[in-house]
Amino acid sequence: MSSQQLKEALETLKETGVRITPQRHAILEYLIDSMSHPTADEIYKALEGKFPNMSVATVYNNLRVFKEVGLVKELTYGDASSRFDFVTTDHYHVICEKCGTIVDFHYPGLNEVEQLASHVTGFKVNQHRMEVYGECPQCAAKDAH
Ligand SMILES: [Zn+2]
Ligand SMILES: [Zn+2]
Repeated sequence: MSSQQLKEALETLKETGVRITPQRHAILEYLIDSMSHPTADEIYKALEGKFPNMSVATVYNNLRVFKEVGLVKELTYGDASSRFDFVTTDHYHVICEKCGTIVDFHYPGLNEVEQLASHVTGFKVNQHRMEVYGECPQCAAKDAH
Protein backbone atom coordinates (compact mmCIF):
# COMPACT_ATOMS: atom_id res chain seq x y z
CA MET A 1 0.00 0.00 0.00
CA SER A 2 2.89 2.39 0.63
CA SER A 3 4.21 1.60 -2.85
CA GLN A 4 0.84 2.71 -4.21
CA GLN A 5 1.19 5.99 -2.31
CA LEU A 6 4.68 6.42 -3.69
CA LYS A 7 3.45 5.75 -7.21
CA GLU A 8 0.74 8.37 -6.86
CA ALA A 9 3.16 10.88 -5.37
CA LEU A 10 5.58 10.38 -8.27
CA GLU A 11 2.65 10.78 -10.65
CA THR A 12 1.78 14.11 -8.99
CA LEU A 13 5.35 15.30 -9.42
CA LYS A 14 5.30 14.35 -13.10
CA GLU A 15 2.00 16.12 -13.68
CA THR A 16 3.27 19.32 -12.08
CA GLY A 17 6.50 19.18 -14.06
CA VAL A 18 8.77 18.54 -11.09
CA ARG A 19 11.82 16.50 -12.06
CA ILE A 20 12.09 13.22 -10.18
CA THR A 21 15.67 12.88 -8.99
CA PRO A 22 16.95 9.84 -7.06
CA GLN A 23 17.12 12.04 -3.95
CA ARG A 24 13.53 13.20 -4.31
CA HIS A 25 12.47 9.60 -4.83
CA ALA A 26 14.32 8.52 -1.67
CA ILE A 27 12.94 11.38 0.45
CA LEU A 28 9.38 10.59 -0.60
CA GLU A 29 9.90 6.92 0.08
CA TYR A 30 11.24 7.72 3.53
CA LEU A 31 8.33 10.02 4.36
CA ILE A 32 5.81 7.39 3.31
CA ASP A 33 7.52 4.40 4.93
CA SER A 34 8.54 6.00 8.21
CA MET A 35 4.94 6.92 9.03
CA SER A 36 6.44 9.45 11.42
CA HIS A 37 6.74 13.20 11.13
CA PRO A 38 10.45 13.67 10.57
CA THR A 39 12.46 16.88 10.58
CA ALA A 40 14.66 17.68 7.57
CA ASP A 41 17.60 16.72 9.76
CA GLU A 42 16.18 13.27 10.55
CA ILE A 43 15.58 12.62 6.85
CA TYR A 44 19.10 13.78 6.09
CA LYS A 45 20.59 11.42 8.70
CA ALA A 46 18.55 8.50 7.39
CA LEU A 47 19.66 9.06 3.79
CA GLU A 48 23.18 10.45 4.03
CA GLY A 49 24.70 6.98 3.66
CA LYS A 50 22.95 6.60 0.33
CA PHE A 51 23.65 10.14 -0.88
CA PRO A 52 27.00 11.29 0.53
CA ASN A 53 26.86 14.57 -1.42
CA MET A 54 23.47 15.57 -0.15
CA SER A 55 23.19 18.33 2.46
CA VAL A 56 20.44 19.17 4.96
CA ALA A 57 19.73 22.24 2.81
CA THR A 58 19.10 19.99 -0.20
CA VAL A 59 16.67 17.89 1.83
CA TYR A 60 14.92 21.04 2.99
CA ASN A 61 14.69 22.43 -0.56
CA ASN A 62 13.19 19.20 -1.82
CA LEU A 63 10.67 19.22 1.02
CA ARG A 64 9.71 22.75 0.02
CA VAL A 65 9.10 21.56 -3.54
CA PHE A 66 6.88 18.73 -2.21
CA LYS A 67 5.03 21.24 -0.07
CA GLU A 68 4.38 23.52 -3.04
CA VAL A 69 2.76 20.71 -5.02
CA GLY A 70 0.74 19.64 -1.98
CA LEU A 71 2.45 16.33 -1.22
CA VAL A 72 3.64 17.24 2.25
CA LYS A 73 2.53 19.49 5.03
CA GLU A 74 5.00 21.44 7.11
CA LEU A 75 4.26 21.44 10.83
CA THR A 76 5.90 24.27 12.72
CA TYR A 77 6.27 24.33 16.49
CA GLY A 78 7.63 27.62 17.75
CA ASP A 79 11.40 27.62 17.58
CA ALA A 80 11.77 23.88 17.10
CA SER A 81 12.60 22.46 13.67
CA SER A 82 9.68 21.99 11.31
CA ARG A 83 8.35 18.49 10.94
CA PHE A 84 7.07 17.14 7.66
CA ASP A 85 4.00 15.06 7.15
CA PHE A 86 3.16 13.16 3.98
CA VAL A 87 -0.33 14.28 3.08
CA THR A 88 -2.82 11.47 3.01
CA THR A 89 -6.26 12.27 4.30
CA ASP A 90 -6.98 15.03 6.78
CA HIS A 91 -6.05 13.96 10.25
CA TYR A 92 -5.25 15.39 13.63
CA HIS A 93 -2.17 14.97 15.79
CA VAL A 94 -1.59 13.91 19.35
CA ILE A 95 1.82 15.03 20.57
CA CYS A 96 3.90 13.74 23.46
CA GLU A 97 5.05 16.63 25.65
CA LYS A 98 8.03 14.60 26.88
CA CYS A 99 9.65 13.16 23.75
CA GLY A 100 7.91 15.04 20.95
CA THR A 101 6.48 11.97 19.23
CA ILE A 102 3.59 12.86 16.93
CA VAL A 103 0.90 10.29 16.22
CA ASP A 104 -1.93 10.63 13.70
CA PHE A 105 -5.52 10.04 14.56
CA HIS A 106 -8.67 10.45 12.59
CA TYR A 107 -11.66 12.43 13.71
CA PRO A 108 -14.33 14.09 11.62
CA GLY A 109 -13.05 17.49 10.47
CA LEU A 110 -14.27 20.31 12.69
CA ASN A 111 -15.80 22.24 9.83
CA GLU A 112 -18.42 23.81 12.04
CA VAL A 113 -15.66 25.53 14.01
CA GLU A 114 -14.39 27.07 10.79
CA GLN A 115 -17.89 28.15 9.87
CA LEU A 116 -18.50 29.69 13.27
CA ALA A 117 -15.13 31.48 13.23
CA SER A 118 -15.95 32.87 9.80
CA HIS A 119 -19.45 33.85 10.85
CA VAL A 120 -18.47 35.74 14.02
CA THR A 121 -15.32 37.41 12.68
CA GLY A 122 -16.05 37.92 9.00
CA PHE A 123 -12.81 36.14 8.11
CA LYS A 124 -12.52 34.02 5.00
CA VAL A 125 -11.35 30.87 6.79
CA ASN A 126 -8.97 28.53 4.95
CA GLN A 127 -7.96 25.94 7.51
CA HIS A 128 -7.57 25.18 11.16
CA ARG A 129 -5.11 23.33 13.27
CA MET A 130 -5.93 21.26 16.32
CA GLU A 131 -3.45 19.36 18.41
CA VAL A 132 -3.88 17.19 21.44
CA TYR A 133 -1.03 17.03 23.96
CA GLY A 134 -0.11 14.44 26.54
CA GLU A 135 2.27 11.63 27.36
CA CYS A 136 2.89 8.75 24.95
CA PRO A 137 2.68 5.12 26.17
CA GLN A 138 6.49 4.74 25.95
CA CYS A 139 7.13 7.75 28.18
CA ALA A 140 4.35 6.70 30.55
CA ALA A 141 5.94 3.25 30.87
CA LYS A 142 9.32 4.83 31.67
CA ASP A 143 7.72 6.94 34.38
CA ALA A 144 6.19 3.87 35.97
CA HIS A 145 9.62 2.40 36.80
ZN1 LIG B 1 6.83 10.32 24.70
ZN1 LIG C 1 0.28 13.43 10.60
